[in-house]
Amino acid sequence: MTTTPLKSWQCDRCPDLITDPDMSLVMWRREDGKFTDFLIVHKSTDGRSCDPGSRAGYQESVELSNFLGDTGVALMLSWLSMGPVRGVPDTNRVGDLDKFVDLFRRLQVPWYEEARPRFQDEETQHWLGDTNEYYPYLPDTLKRTAEGRLGGR
Ligand SMILES: [Zn+2]
Repeated sequence: MTTTPLKSWQCDRCPDLITDPDMSLVMWRREDGKFTDFLIVHKSTDGRSCDPGSRAGYQESVELSNFLGDTGVALMLSWLSMGPVRGVPDTNRVGDLDKFVDLFRRLQVPWYEEARPRFQDEETQHWLGDTNEYYPYLPDTLKRTAEGRLGGR
């Protein structure tokens, strides 16, 4: 497999891979003021129409490149807490924590994006259904999940 983790993402709105972080967007909706329903999509250029737009409630978007590396960690953590500088309590802006962690892992944890389509597969459930909370999301486990090697093959 020639895939390099954290370099390409499956667009949530078309069958094609995203390979240019400057030509794609992370988008989300607000529900009661909180962020939810995160999407990773191609920008609407070159005839693409992956961006669902504000009519579908996706009024907020930031280029995917901002979510990568250390800067991306800092950006996404600021959604959970503004921290000590602003000194305002209870500043969580994330409405759905599971959807947020899915987004965070897609953009930060090596091999999560590649393994993601296989989480419901019989083989994945067989080998990982009974493990502890973090084992399925370790980069090595994710790589073996992506490559269909969980059985030790
Ligand atoms: Zn697309």
